[in-house]
Amino acid sequence: MLAKATKIASKTRYLGESALHLARRASHRLARHVPLTPKRMRNCEPLVSFTFDDVPESAYRIGAPILEAHGARGTFYIATGLLGHRSDFWTVAGASEVADLYQRGHEIGLHSHLHRSSSLLTADEFAADLRRNRETLQDIDPGIDARNFAYPFGQCTLARKHQLNRLVRSSRSIYAGVNRGLFDPHYTRATELCDTRLTPERLEARLDEAQRSRCWLVFCIHDVADTPSPLGCSPGFLSQALEGARRRGMRIVTVDAALDLIAGAATMPLPENLIPAQEFSRG
Ligand SMILES: [Zn+2]
Repeated sequence: MLAKATKIASKTRYLGESALHLARRASHRLARHVPLTPKRMRNCEPLVSFTFDDVPESAYRIGAPILEAHGARGTFYIATGLLGHRSDFWTVAGASEVADLYQRGHEIGLHSHLHRSSSLLTADEFAADLRRNRETLQDIDPGIDARNFAYPFGQCTLARKHQLNRLVRSSRSIYAGVNRGLFDPHYTRATELCDTRLTPERLEARLDEAQRSRCWLVFCIHDVADTPSPLGCSPGFLSQALEGARRRGMRIVTVDAALDLIAGAATMPLPENLIPAQEFSRG
């Protein structure tokens, strides 16, 4: 009798968890397809942004200098609760590295404090976590005004998207593709620049597509190493993307600078620390 009751309880729990999982998946799918405040892209040239998630120490030590050697700056999405932590694949950069990235003209973005999926948090929990993320970044350098967000694990819900619409300027997903036409600033698409997930041929094709349609191509990167993690990018692959963009005359900008250009504010001066160090010539 007891065994039967335990079995029923276990099955009920399993069905409950499955229903919750399905509900989260459905909410994520809805959030992906329902833009809250779609923006018409008004940029007159193709744009490319290089973004880094979690920011492994190698992204700071190897990735950032490669960008800088090409006259470019990136957007580094920081989960402040992970600073200095060792994970399965990498050690996360620390506070002094984040401060240095900012001082060198890179954009610092929000990636939550505890790096939990936004789909698991209530509105209050999510707001408190994001506030802590922002405050910790300002403790690192009071000049950091982080206003663009990347979803931890790429997961969101319609409710969290609504919330982010009031809290940040944009929210980046890890849903592959390019941003063009009417696009959703709270579910911006990104291509993972990762040796195991993208071939050199597909990278060139994605750059061609971005150039042809004058859209905004966003790369998402984790570690940068000669022997990268399964999520990582080799220095050669990162250089190929940068050189491919330069060859096609595409402008490489931070996420915040791209949003200014997309809004048609290209003639407005950008904040000094967000101006690309070098403009690339067309051709
Ligand atoms: Zn992350």
